Amino acid sequence: MSKIYALAIHGGAGTILKSAMTSEKETAYSNVLREALEAGERILKSGGSALDAVEKSVCILEDSELFNAGKGSVFTHDHTHELDASIMEGRERKAGAVTGLKRIKNPISLCRAILNHSEHVFLMAEGAEEFARDQGISLVEQDYFSTGLRREQLERIRDSGKTQLDHADDELKKFGTVGAVALDLNGDLAAATSTGGITNKRYGRIGDTPVIGAGTYAENGVCAVSSTGHGEFYLRAVAAYEVAAMIKYGGLTLEEASRKLIHGIIPQMGGDGGLISIDAQGEICMPFNTEGMYRASVSKGQSAQIFIYR
Ligand code: ASP
Repeated sequence: MSKIYALAIHGGAGTILKSAMTSEKETAYSNVLREALEAGERILKSGGSALDAVEKSVCILEDSELFNAGKGSVFTHDHTHELDASIMEGRERKAGAVTGLKRIKNPISLCRAILNHSEHVFLMAEGAEEFARDQGISLVEQDYFSTGLRREQLERIRDSGKTQLDHADDELKKFGTVGAVALDLNGDLAAATSTGGITNKRYGRIGDTPVIGAGTYAENGVCAVSSTGHGEFYLRAVAAYEVAAMIKYGGLTLEEASRKLIHGIIPQMGGDGGLISIDAQGEICMPFNTEGMYRASVSKGQSAQIFIYR
């Protein structure tokens, strides 16, 4: 039994400038981050699992339309929503992942159901939704995810043929993917990540978020990681696992490995973004190479901290 627990969450990295933020918006974002952090912390504090904590925190972020996951997800080129998510625990390295969901309110809970109850790890689209029905998980209509703001973001770039990271919208400064990493009192690590992807993405595009080892990774004794940023680069860098590998085989600290990925490997490949990571000692690292990243952390003995800007 370890004597410590720790939890970190993120709501995406990107062009998040204080100059473009109102105090009302800042408060709204901080409130949801706080709510998600506190809900996860309550689980950890009472001896609950890191897996329960990351699922709970991510569910709350998915339910907020401020973030690009669950409600408030960005639009594809075809005016639909296709949601991706994954979850992993570090003790047995069990995982659940989904891609191309159109009707699941909380994709991260479906990931959890896959982790718990399926012989498979990764389910897509209708197959994933059929599994959800079997598990008694209720489905919602596509409209549930839509907001006016996301529609405007799509209309602005739809004909350009370009995709756009939610949080790289220079005009609206909107934001991304959500995630959580945790260490529980048993010494177990877990990570979870959920997203609507990128605005104007093609039908069937899959980013890093649902890919174990790219968007999400957890291994006891090493680290747990949740990524956010330009998914194509994170996929090619096998980002989350790369951090673990640098620690496991290269002897780097959590901080060294996390910073090397975000300030070295990813930008050298041409990508941008951030990540949150945690190790077996409860150290937390939250690097990003953009203007800001919605992020928050808490650990036993240290009160909640919420940050947005650099
Ligand atoms: N990584 C996500 C994706 O490429 C986007 C994000 O982090 O905002 O789908």
